[in-house]
Amino acid sequence: MAYTEALAVSYDHPFTVIIGLETHVQLLTESKLFCRCSTTFGEPPNTQTCPVCTGSPGALPVMNAEAFRLSVKTAVALNCRIPEFTKWDRKQYYYPDLPKGYQISQFDLPMSEDGWLEIADPLNPDDVRRIGIIRAHLEEDAGKSMHDEAAGKSDTRIDLNRTGTPLLEIVTQPDLRSAAEAKAYLTELKLLLMYLGVSDCNMQEGSLRVDANVNLHIETDGGKIATPIVEVKNLNSFRAVERALTYEVDRQYHEWCDTGRKLGDPGVSKQTSGWDDAAQRTRLQRSKEESSDYRYFPDPDLVPVVVSPEEVEAVRQALGELPAALRSRLESQYELKAYDADVIVNQGRAVVDYYETLAAASGDPRRASNWLQQDVLRTLNEMSLTIEQFPLTAAGLGELLKLVEQGDLDNTKAKDVFAHMLAHGESAAQAMKSLGIEQVDDSALETLCQELLDANPKTIADVQAGKMQAVGALIGQAKKKNPNVNPADVKRICLELIARM
Ligand SMILES: [Zn+2]
Repeated sequence: MAYTEALAVSYDHPFTVIIGLETHVQLLTESKLFCRCSTTFGEPPNTQTCPVCTGSPGALPVMNAEAFRLSVKTAVALNCRIPEFTKWDRKQYYYPDLPKGYQISQFDLPMSEDGWLEIADPLNPDDVRRIGIIRAHLEEDAGKSMHDEAAGKSDTRIDLNRTGTPLLEIVTQPDLRSAAEAKAYLTELKLLLMYLGVSDCNMQEGSLRVDANVNLHIETDGGKIATPIVEVKNLNSFRAVERALTYEVDRQYHEWCDTGRKLGDPGVSKQTSGWDDAAQRTRLQRSKEESSDYRYFPDPDLVPVVVSPEEVEAVRQALGELPAALRSRLESQYELKAYDADVIVNQGRAVVDYYETLAAASGDPRRASNWLQQDVLRTLNEMSLTIEQFPLTAAGLGELLKLVEQGDLDNTKAKDVFAHMLAHGESAAQAMKSLGIEQVDDSALETLCQELLDANPKTIADVQAGKMQAVGALIGQAKKKNPNVNPADVKRICLELIARM
């Protein structure tokens, strides 16, 4: 809400941004939705097609049960209702990359409806917003048209490898109120899909594609008006979503100022536009078809699917711990700040597992969280590794952190040991030995501290006068005499000795 208000300040009339998103998620199956062709990305064009893909006469589609299972799993995680009966419909339209002349989809009886996803308000992360999900339904993907205009001729080639790939289309209510909120929703949705293992969500390869419906509700002297709805198609990065929506809000406002055109006026229909990334603007394409234009009808080649409540319950039981639950568990079990729990959970399940082992082995969950975020994640990033490829096990790193926790190593030395462990594959103890870091026992340390105090009577006087921090001057001297001393121990023992004087 605050975003909307802040945004509206710079315009002459206050308004609210209304956004609904349709997300197409490519499901992680080995074969297509209605045939056995492979879904592998990047193979030579038209090497993964069959008569079912091209809709040749006599070819019969058979539903991929795995695709259906993955879609039920997702819908349940999105708190959707799963009706007992769902069917397949043909969506008729002509496009060169759709040789059948129709797409198999779900129309009036989708496999799920009426769910929600909770997201953190981007401006106030403690506030949770519940975004309604109208439906999630399965459909097959179309092929790809590749336009080659480089040679000055308009040469279009068709690749049907993608034809028939299973897509789950997740449609939100128009509940999103800003471009930032749309991005927060997509980020949370993507994380959920990754945890569920239902999609690789690779946006470069088109595994996650977004269409955004956007318009404005503007307060005017004559009451509230709505601007015509524009659907921005095929946004293939979160950045494109944010920029396209920000652009479109501004464009719609100014168009309304110039023309006064609003939703419901004669001749005003929903428009489709595309995002031109090079120009950083949306471009109007055509008037949007109404669903009646598609002449949907039930696919006569496919039997309806029946799902029992018991099957849905079994899927629910097997979901595992999902991001929202995981975040709150990390916060309460390890006393982590919401921000830290969020960073860890956003890295995926394997990093969460690493963290939990590290927290247990180190005996200090907070320290484990700091080291994971600062040292481990930074190293992964620098070395382009996944946590599975990281050379230090959580248990091994835990030993190092335990030494820090016990005061046997200060933080600076611990970082050296960490680097050595990484470079040489040694344990914390081996690395300390290799680096010549040995623990200084308390009696040796006491002798050293006594010598320093004898040589620095002013420090003793200052501490006795209540200036405890004066003892800090001795730490540097102690380290010069013996580089292995722990600063915290020097401080503690000096104060003890002075107290006894
Ligand atoms: Zn096929």
